[in-house]
Amino acid sequence: MTSNALFPLGRPAFVSNVLDRAAHLRFNDEKLFALESKSDSRAYVVYRDSLLMKQEAGGPRALLTVDEALKFGANPGTIFLGLRDGAAVFGMGIGAPAVEKLLTRDDVALTELRGMAMQGVVPPEQLSAIAMAKSLVSWHQRHGFCANCGARSAMAEGGWKRVCTSCKTEHFPRTDPVVIMLVENGDKCLMGRQKQFPPGMYSCLAGFVEAAETIEDAVRREIFEEAGIHCTDVKYYMTQPWPYPSSLMIGCSARATSDAITVDHMELEDARWFDRDEAMLMLKREHPDGLAGPHPFAIAHHLLGRWLQPD
Ligand SMILES: [Zn+2]
Repeated sequence: MTSNALFPLGRPAFVSNVLDRAAHLRFNDEKLFALESKSDSRAYVVYRDSLLMKQEAGGPRALLTVDEALKFGANPGTIFLGLRDGAAVFGMGIGAPAVEKLLTRDDVALTELRGMAMQGVVPPEQLSAIAMAKSLVSWHQRHGFCANCGARSAMAEGGWKRVCTSCKTEHFPRTDPVVIMLVENGDKCLMGRQKQFPPGMYSCLAGFVEAAETIEDAVRREIFEEAGIHCTDVKYYMTQPWPYPSSLMIGCSARATSDAITVDHMELEDARWFDRDEAMLMLKREHPDGLAGPHPFAIAHHLLGRWLQPD
């Protein structure tokens, strides 16, 4: 086994969305307002990289009623995420003063999203909707002013657009493409570690796709820049939304055509070839030297897992 029960092979975090985005409702302010007032409507409340949850006897509850969210002090400008079993789900932000007050209460928990996903604090099928809320709340907080003229912009279409109050330019939430790749060289694969990784952890190399660049070129460029390895045969595997704050990880494989590694120490602390046995021990967290692979919630784990267990 190379994955855990929460994230079986091919199903990392943030890929299982149970919401119907119901985009047609975004254009009807009256209907959205009516949905917000309905008793079965729910909200995810996001503060920076964390989610506000109601602490209950059975464990923390991520989906709050809209009324609970507003009483907690969440900002009233709600983002329509979609419908779940016909009931509306919204994303809401909350300010630091309200959070400080809430943290004195023992019925409220503020949990960092990454840790929450890794530890299974909420069911995996809710993570995608929480990621939507986190990305959109974060985007609105950082885009209060028009990039064209500098005037204030205002939320529109249920939070899926901002419109400048002066020049009327429309602004849309961005998604930044990132390539992440398993590079193989016969029976070895390439992994690297960044300085901020936990001790002993290695993972697949990754980097942002640049302007006017294909995914294939981005894979080849990043591998050469970070490790000095030339590669070919770039193949797409799967994608994973990554809400830090709004990336889309594009998982690929590639075949190396050179062997000697030259590490770019601005980007990586180390990069090495690992054989199959070693990579398997790292994914299982059983490596004798304490080396570890990426966690099953991350797409890198699944790229490696698929390489180790081909169809
Ligand atoms: Zn403007």
